[in-house]
Amino acid sequence: MKIAVIGGGAAGFFAALRAKERYPKAEVFLFERTAKLLSKVRISGGGRCNVTHACFDLRELVKNYPRGNRELLGPFHTFGPKDTIQWFKERAVDLKAEEDGRMFPVTNTSETIIDCFLNEAKRLGVKICLQTKLESIQKNGAGFELHMGEKVFVDRVILATGSSKLGHDLARGLGHSIQTPVPSLFTFNIPSFSLKELSGVATIANLKIGKLEQTGPLLITHFGFSGPAALKLSAFGARLLAEKEYHVALQVDWIPDQLESALQSEIDLQRSAHPKKRLINTKLTALPKSLWRALLERSGFSDVLLGSLSKSSTSKLFDVLKRDRYEAKGKTTNKEEFVTCGGITLSEVNFKTMESKFTKGLYFCGEVLDIDGVTGGFNFQNAWTTGYLAGGSAIS
Ligand SMILES: Cc1cc2nc3c(=O)[nH]c(=O)nc-3n(C[C@H](O)[C@H](O)[C@H](O)COP(=O)(O)OP(=O)(O)OC[C@H]3O[C@@H](n4cnc5c(N)ncnc54)[C@H](O)[C@@H]3O)c2cc1C
Repeated sequence: MKIAVIGGGAAGFFAALRAKERYPKAEVFLFERTAKLLSKVRISGGGRCNVTHACFDLRELVKNYPRGNRELLGPFHTFGPKDTIQWFKERAVDLKAEEDGRMFPVTNTSETIIDCFLNEAKRLGVKICLQTKLESIQKNGAGFELHMGEKVFVDRVILATGSSKLGHDLARGLGHSIQTPVPSLFTFNIPSFSLKELSGVATIANLKIGKLEQTGPLLITHFGFSGPAALKLSAFGARLLAEKEYHVALQVDWIPDQLESALQSEIDLQRSAHPKKRLINTKLTALPKSLWRALLERSGFSDVLLGSLSKSSTSKLFDVLKRDRYEAKGKTTNKEEFVTCGGITLSEVNFKTMESKFTKGLYFCGEVLDIDGVTGGFNFQNAWTTGYLAGGSAIS
């Protein structure tokens, strides 16, 4: 039995290791078109590799996948974050969770993960072929004919080519349809951004585009909004945003934890105690002081005294704090992590084995599928889970 894994990224590598572990007698080949293995693993998480997320309630876990949430629930029962932690532990790699749930190797370097994989590949006897690009693939009886400069015949193929167009074309050639790839996980550009002086300030906010919304840390940058809330919104809105060519109205609730009625009570209290105090110098919310001042100055509240705050200006204040509006035009790639929304249509894949429903012996894993997660280690977890299933099912 010969198993060919196409793509030496996170998913392909994990699939190859699992296949060779499960079927020691099979020959497992890992073909990578470039001269380097695991390139994204190396640069991921700022060079630290955000391996997974400490989320062990699988129903909660799948909520972090704008695409693939329904399909991944079963696979996560077979190989979820707990299994990832255990897998690495058994190979002397300890992972640690940060406060926000992201998990990294305790060594804080992605080289630990790469070394672990390379050692495993050596120990198990996975045959690695670099600078070997799969150009085309044909079904040949029960197996496959691969064209990579020369012809190679194999019994099983695991396609783990990430978001590459060639990978999608190869899958198309074997009967699959592709959900159009568009970017996910990006930040929003706001032309003439009124808050750019506050670049670097972060707060918890609610960000909305039409019916889509996300609450979480929002980072103000020179050119617009970034941070987890913006990135998550870009992931869940990836298709809609692409359709609108990234030109959308953004609504910001700067104080999502504070109801208007609570804010009104606080205003009433402060007004009767300090009617001569300027609103801008009064602490009514948990917003960073610089942001509070900037929002009020921009909206003409610079000189307003608490005692002279009329009903109509209070309602204008609520609009600024709870329904602030910005026009986003364009996006910027987030240097930390970006993924592709789109790929092989999920209904065409058996998620118990990752086998194609159209071509027997063909398996998929990782980002080549129409699966993507938000930032935080979820994309690698998809690569490990689907890689584990594909590798472990290839000769069933
Ligand atoms: C800068 C950056 C940082 C990231 N950080 C994180 C993070 O910290 N945590 C997280 O969860 N996710 C992170 N991600 C996302 C994560 O890296 C990807 O989701 C994951 O690497 C996908 O793995 P994959 O194996 O499916 O695809 P890839 O990693 O893209 O690997 C596909 C491989 O296939 C090869 N290939 C393609 N076509 C062919 C062919 N025809 N023949 C042979 N080989 C081929 C490619 O050269 C490539 O090596 C990050 C992404 C980026 C870009």
